[in-house]
Amino acid sequence: MKEIVVISGKGGTGKTSIVASFAALADKKVLADCDVDAADLHLVLNPRIEYREDFSGGKKARILDDECVACDRCIEECRFDAIHYPVSTDGKDAQTPQINPIFCEGCGVCLRVCPAEAIAFEDAVNGEWYTSTTNYGYMVHARLGFAEGNSGKLVTIVRREAKKIAERDGLDYIIVDGSPGIGCPVIASVTGSDLVLIVTEPTLSGKHDLARVAELTAHFRIPALVCVNKWDLNPEVTEEIETDAKQRGVRVAGRVRYDNAITKAQIMKTSVVEYTGGAVSKDIKTVWRNVIYALG
Ligand code: SF4
Ligand code: SF4
Repeated sequence: MKEIVVISGKGGTGKTSIVASFAALADKKVLADCDVDAADLHLVLNPRIEYREDFSGGKKARILDDECVACDRCIEECRFDAIHYPVSTDGKDAQTPQINPIFCEGCGVCLRVCPAEAIAFEDAVNGEWYTSTTNYGYMVHARLGFAEGNSGKLVTIVRREAKKIAERDGLDYIIVDGSPGIGCPVIASVTGSDLVLIVTEPTLSGKHDLARVAELTAHFRIPALVCVNKWDLNPEVTEEIETDAKQRGVRVAGRVRYDNAITKAQIMKTSVVEYTGGAVSKDIKTVWRNVIYALG
């Protein structure tokens, strides 16, 4: 079983369209959407949820009104400014402060300074993860709550569950739609994988993104390939990106041309390779063949 992670330096490079086409092209695979901050693979693959589970990425504090003696120590010590007396709506002043769960970072300082044991410190539900069926096989995906952190931990869960399915069903591939950028979620997306495909665009920022992501894959010693999406919008920069990639030990998996069919396929909730048999579809098939070849 091989795990392929598709990543990009930033969102909006066409990464998810390429993953959806890989989903249609690969035999015996499970899909994992690790772009948990802005998941959109489900928009194309129409998953039917079979199992869901809460995700707890940390703790949140809550004031127990009956115990609180309103000493305000917690307000003074909370460096995230998460504790306030609520604004009165009925003319009566609140007797105890409240903790805003959006601002609470779960550091536990209020718990330590409270003289009245008036603070509960509980697992926070930060999101959900799901196992679903799609027309392309199983898919594991997730939703992170608004303004919630710990997306790296959620990414790790999504990959772990996809791997369990692959092992259970004897599948050949885990195809991962990775998080964009180079932060904690993308590190959680790529570590221990067999191959990373970097999708970028022919712009100066795309060139810069490739350099950053290539440094990341080199650091973790993961074989990497690059694919320039919409390459024909700027062939010169495409050449520069590919030259730079080769110098960094990143092989070229192929180029995907600009084509409105990519947007139309998304609107029709299908993959590009199923929507059209045209040139852009052939481009993506070439990239997939090269990915498989690189896996050996
Ligand atoms: S746990 Fe930390 S961030 Fe949350 S309210 Fe207490 S002191 Fe503030
Ligand atoms: S430190 Fe404890 S007793 Fe004092 S205001 Fe905060 S919750 Fe209430």
